[in-house]
Amino acid sequence: MGKGFFNVPIAINEPVKSYAPGSPERKEVLEAYKTMFNSKIDVPLYINGQNITTGNTRTISPPHDHQHIVGTYHLAEQSHIDEAISTALEARKTWSLMPWEQRAGIFLKAAELVAGPYRAKINAATMIGQSKNIYQAEIDSACELVDFLRFNVQYMTDIYHEQPESTSDAWNRIEYRPLEGFTYAVSPFNFTAIAGNLPACMALMGNVVVWKPSDSQVYSAKVIMDIFEEAGVPPGVINVVFGDPVMISNTVLASPDFSGLHFTGSTFIFKELWKQIGNNIHNYKTYPRIVGETGGKDFIVAHKSANPKHVATAIARGAFEFQGQKCSAASRAYIPKSIWAEVKALVLEDVKSFKMGSPEDMSNFITAVIHEGSFDKLAKYIDQAKKDSEVEIIAGGGHDKSKGYFIEPTVIVTKDPKYTTMCTELFGPVITIYVYEDNAYAETLKLVDETSEYALTGAIISKDRYAITQATEALQNCAGNFYINDKPTGAVVGQQPFGGARASGTNDKAGSPQNLLRWVSPRMIKETFVTPLDYRYPFLGE
Ligand code: NAD
Repeated sequence: MGKGFFNVPIAINEPVKSYAPGSPERKEVLEAYKTMFNSKIDVPLYINGQNITTGNTRTISPPHDHQHIVGTYHLAEQSHIDEAISTALEARKTWSLMPWEQRAGIFLKAAELVAGPYRAKINAATMIGQSKNIYQAEIDSACELVDFLRFNVQYMTDIYHEQPESTSDAWNRIEYRPLEGFTYAVSPFNFTAIAGNLPACMALMGNVVVWKPSDSQVYSAKVIMDIFEEAGVPPGVINVVFGDPVMISNTVLASPDFSGLHFTGSTFIFKELWKQIGNNIHNYKTYPRIVGETGGKDFIVAHKSANPKHVATAIARGAFEFQGQKCSAASRAYIPKSIWAEVKALVLEDVKSFKMGSPEDMSNFITAVIHEGSFDKLAKYIDQAKKDSEVEIIAGGGHDKSKGYFIEPTVIVTKDPKYTTMCTELFGPVITIYVYEDNAYAETLKLVDETSEYALTGAIISKDRYAITQATEALQNCAGNFYINDKPTGAVVGQQPFGGARASGTNDKAGSPQNLLRWVSPRMIKETFVTPLDYRYPFLGE
């Protein structure tokens, strides 16, 4: 061990392919889509490198065609969770000792498998299972996952290089130990890349993991596990369990060896898990690390100097791409009166041009929302808005779940800046707009700051540098990712580390060294070369 100071390949962002008509990638992904759509998979639990089938299964259906079945997945009993924990702890004995370059080799290989041989498959799985159009699938399940894997390897070596000063007679070294015990990854449905990254980055740093993916992301989770297996992640290092999230979390968090939670999902669930960890705190062998990236109520503020076309495009993309199911999606906008008529006309034109349907038809910009629960919730808010006198629906408002969970991209205009859809995270293709008096810019910025409990992303659009400065200052605590003259979505690993504060999370910035530092426990080693022989210091002399 330790026979060289190795350099890792310099991480570069995976280029996004175009999928334009006639391109080879378009042909390949459509072929994969057809084959996968017309066959059935059976997804087991993965414990200690074994495929475990329990016989207690649920079906997997595309949200855009919910009566069509593309597979089944197996649900865990409590005994499987116990086994996943004990197996992880057993695997830790060898995995935590594996030289870092071997761990790096595994995850760099996984990145290249995603970028190459598995690209069409993981994109098709994300299109089928999560109803992403091809562009949304490509930037997530192919490119962002590749970027997480590549950049994290580089960041790991950067962290390992962080060392204290030494003197000629004492050598000081810091070892970045994995956490003692096992870690728990709980991932959301909306990003295949996040699902892969939550367990992978902890394993990269030498930890062992129990991973619980979302029930609505099982198809692409299976592809991720196939890739990890092929890349050489040893048995027991990442164990995947599906099933009742309450039972799984109760079992995991009751273990004295639980040492870290890596969560991405909604705010309420994260707070519940945090509370449960607090209640169990006397049982743990170590203080668990808690990282959670959670909900958002992300904003666009336009200044009167803004180009209306910039504002409208930021709304069309920021609010509606992937049906608004991004934690960063713009869901409230503040537009000055003087440019509103123009912005409104442009937004309506854009929304009218959106096509909605299956992702297999690549002319569709919008597809279905993730499941019936989400559909019903969105339909309820939209139907209520139709009745409320202080708001007007100027685009969309329709919904239909007969074949798929389709919600029309909806634009609500409100006279009440604290109307429920200005404050509540709906997680769908709905944006609410408040039109403000041009001379009330400062008050509006205050309103943006005070309206929601979240602080994830936000954007200011303006040509006036003083207005930009004012917004940057006034909104400094309401977004962990703040955009100037851009939409508030689309963070790229290595370029815009992502995360928010307040109710939006612990802001440990996914895809950055800050995040990886949460999964290590440094050990300081001081080695003295000439060891003292006498306790007496010179000052004690006569
Ligand atoms: P969710 O909270 O419903 O589910 C997230 C995960 O928690 C899933 O694996 C789910 O099965 C699990 N879970 C659900 N109930 C649980 C319980 N009682 N105990 C333990 N685990 C439980 O979220 P979702 O619908 O999958 O994802 C959407 C949410 O995630 C939105 O709020 C969105 O803003 C947020 N999100 C945030 C970020 C970010 O970086 N801040 C990124 C993606 C998604």
